[in-house]
Amino acid sequence: MTPVEKRNQKLGEKVVKALESRHFEACWCATKEEALQKALGWLDKQMQISYGGTATMEEIGLLPYLRENGYNLLERSKGKTPEEQAEIMRRALLCDTFLMSANAISEDGQLVNVDGRANRVAALCFGPKQVIVVAGVNKIVRSAEDAVVRARTIAAPINAQRFDGDTPCTKQGVCGDCKSPDCICAQIVTTRLCKPAGRIKVILVGEPLGF
Ligand code: SF4
Repeated sequence: MTPVEKRNQKLGEKVVKALESRHFEACWCATKEEALQKALGWLDKQMQISYGGTATMEEIGLLPYLRENGYNLLERSKGKTPEEQAEIMRRALLCDTFLMSANAISEDGQLVNVDGRANRVAALCFGPKQVIVVAGVNKIVRSAEDAVVRARTIAAPINAQRFDGDTPCTKQGVCGDCKSPDCICAQIVTTRLCKPAGRIKVILVGEPLGF
């Protein structure tokens, strides 16, 4: 193992314990391939599965696997109109399993996510029977305060580039604390505890994933 891999493993194991102390189910996977297998162990073809955000789930190969192997996947992109897409997002709040990443995770085991329309954080907070969060080691930061800073100054300005909205971060690459109708930071949600216990399952991965 390289020094980076050794350090990441020790950090990951520490954060797994911190997450467990907050009643999340949590595990450390050294590689994307291990993370994919771990996530598949929590899924079956009878479940209705949906997701919010795609970068990390695409990177570990989970969404391609589910599409290619006949899982019951509810995808917003399948809606032909904005109204159909909004209806799919509403239905996703009652699915069996919701897949997502986190914008940041503090070393003491708190998840921080920013969201524009709030469908992703709504599903995280309540609705789907289980939520599987996959996050690369690059998402781990020192404190819950640092997690909010990461979410707003790193994750959101990069994420905003995907939407071409009229926001300061889209144009300048940095957060301008905007109130734009296109703002993707309408909600800033800290998940301090998992309740009921075990509903949110967190897979920490020893490789950078997403942004
Ligand atoms: S400029 Fe607005 S949309 Fe962009 S990161 Fe800041 S608050 Fe979020």
